[in-house]
Amino acid sequence: MFTLTQFPLPYATDALMPYISAETLETHHGRHVATYIDNLNKLIENTPYADLSLIEIIKESANRPEDKKIFNNAAQVYNHDFFFHGMCPKCTTEIPQEIIESFGSAENFKNQFKESATALFGSGYTWLVRDGDKLKIINTSNADTPIAHNMQPILTLDVWEHSYYLDYKNKRADFVDNFLNNLVNWDFVAENLSK
Ligand code: MN
Repeated sequence: MFTLTQFPLPYATDALMPYISAETLETHHGRHVATYIDNLNKLIENTPYADLSLIEIIKESANRPEDKKIFNNAAQVYNHDFFFHGMCPKCTTEIPQEIIESFGSAENFKNQFKESATALFGSGYTWLVRDGDKLKIINTSNADTPIAHNMQPILTLDVWEHSYYLDYKNKRADFVDNFLNNLVNWDFVAENLSK
């Protein structure tokens, strides 16, 4: 039977300071994500979902309104794992060539990503995805995730308020700037692009 356990952060909780505080990461990873994992394990216990992988659970529950709670918790686990692995302390600043070619320049890519992330109303995520043969920037609402829509995630930013409010209050744009300029793990991005 499938029991999901907390995935470890790929760095210490104070490693992303000063852009993300240890308090934010401890709360975000240690409490919010832990709760999604607990909920999911309880919801799938003794159901056919218990035999599936996390990605299979997401795809299977995506089209079943009666399983919305399962979808929401499973997608939140996946999205957070992807978000946290998309950042690192003192990363390379080299933006993969494919992104530069697709968006015209690194600057254009960052501007479009920032525009999308600041325009997202309410809770959700901004993503760089591969959709067919195109790279696109999209927003998803609440727990929704590109893998439920047959798109391949390349990078994501969590713009739920719990992701930045302790450090930035209402200044989401500053959080987005720091994410793009100081936190993105471009090696992780390049690895996803090569898949
Ligand atoms: Mn979050």
